[in-house]
Amino acid sequence: MDIRKSFLEYFQSKGHKLVESSPLVPDDPTLLFTNAGMVQFKNIFTGDAPVPNPPRATSSQTCIRAGGKHNDLDNVGYTARHHTFFEMLGNFSFGDYFKKEAIAYAWEFVTGSEYLALPVEKIWVTVHDSDDEAYDLWKTHISEERIMRFGDKDNFWQMGDTGPCGPCSEIFYDQGEEHFNSPEDVMGGEGDRFLEIWNLVFMQYERDEKGELHPLPKPSIDTGMGLERVVAIKEGKFNNYHSSLFMPLLDAIGKLVGKPYDYDAPNSASYRVIADHVRSVSFLLAQGVNFDKEGRGYVLRRIMRRAIRHGYLLGLREPFMYKLVDALVEVMGDHYGYLKTKSEAIKTSMKLEEERFFDTIEAGIKLFNQELEKMTDTFNGEVAFKLYDTFGFPLDLTEDMLREKGIKLDIDTFNAKMEAQKAQSKANWKGTGDAATSGDFKQLKEQFEVNEFVGYETTETTTKVL
Ligand code: ATP
Ligand code: MG
Ligand code: MG
Ligand code: MG
Repeated sequence: MDIRKSFLEYFQSKGHKLVESSPLVPDDPTLLFTNAGMVQFKNIFTGDAPVPNPPRATSSQTCIRAGGKHNDLDNVGYTARHHTFFEMLGNFSFGDYFKKEAIAYAWEFVTGSEYLALPVEKIWVTVHDSDDEAYDLWKTHISEERIMRFGDKDNFWQMGDTGPCGPCSEIFYDQGEEHFNSPEDVMGGEGDRFLEIWNLVFMQYERDEKGELHPLPKPSIDTGMGLERVVAIKEGKFNNYHSSLFMPLLDAIGKLVGKPYDYDAPNSASYRVIADHVRSVSFLLAQGVNFDKEGRGYVLRRIMRRAIRHGYLLGLREPFMYKLVDALVEVMGDHYGYLKTKSEAIKTSMKLEEERFFDTIEAGIKLFNQELEKMTDTFNGEVAFKLYDTFGFPLDLTEDMLREKGIKLDIDTFNAKMEAQKAQSKANWKGTGDAATSGDFKQLKEQFEVNEFVGYETTETTTKVL
């Protein structure tokens, strides 16, 4: 079953216009990356852009959650359900239908025999504490024992610190008792038995910089369903990474490492982290983001260097990420044509970044291990700074390495060193005024020219309608 296609066709049959995925770098300074399907519609929800005709849309949106409000970077490899890059299927109503239809559509798509056809008794839903209306609507579809109420933490959704938001209602799939926990413990929490598949957001407010809520011009609907999670369920896999979207990547990694992926092996998380990161890094590069010392390009570098370190843990000692791009294109290139056309440029860029980090990673890891042996209760912030400054270990990479060992970092010392360096380089900058001649700048420029995003001419998905 082609779930993406089935979803988009279902909502088109209900009067929704098909809209293509918007870029991963949003036209919105308040957001690091596009983290949900609603991002491209933000101004319509707030009333800053006109309501399109028809006032309904559906999309399959590529998302990155590796920073900002929704950050899943630390979950990757450790939970069965999180990726830094994933696809969110969504249906949207711009002041048109509201809760009743949103719930009825979701129910039909999840349980209907021509659609996902998930067994009714495995579906659970949540609503916001205060939302009797949603509760009563769900009662017409599902037995009351499987409707739960939660507070803001779980059932109030917002894009970021500011922007459209509202109470929400989520749909969960019960993966079976063997995965433990009671619904109260795990829905919206970190358990694995109840897997969240779909969030229906009842968009009613806009949050301003002061944190205050203002009603939107009209109540609207924004939903998001994780494609990878549903694919895994339909393929009978408990772990997203064991579905057909990821297995070819895990297999390709196994070939490079010389040991096939084995879930029960102690190092299996490294395989999953690499499989995840090759997706996010490839898509970001394909869309014109480049490795950089700051901003979005630095987030990209952080993701890449985490992946490289996991390759190192698996025994790899030379560039390998770029060798996984073909496997990714094999899985996703038909739908995302630009991935295919950009694949050579992606590889070139990746390889360069890998060469850079492989130059210093060995010495950095040695320093890290030496400090581990020496330290008493916290990891020295000065060493973390040296790792950052001399060996190219982003702070979050060092933190990730420490987390694996349950060790805390002396972050204050790190920050103090960082501040001092910034002040110093500001002073130097004034002195020479000539950054354009530095090697790094040239390299970035070269990469940028290789990688400029050309847009979506090559996708076979949809046409832009809004
Ligand atoms: P979770 O509680 O599992 O972290 P969420 O509540 O943060 O998910 P939403 O913001 O509600 O997720 O996003 C809508 C849907 O997108 C989710 O129901 C899920 O199916 C999917 N999704 C969210 N984050 C991820 C991720 N990191 N990887 C894969 N799918 C995701
Ligand atoms: Mg989350
Ligand atoms: Mg959740
Ligand atoms: Mg959610």
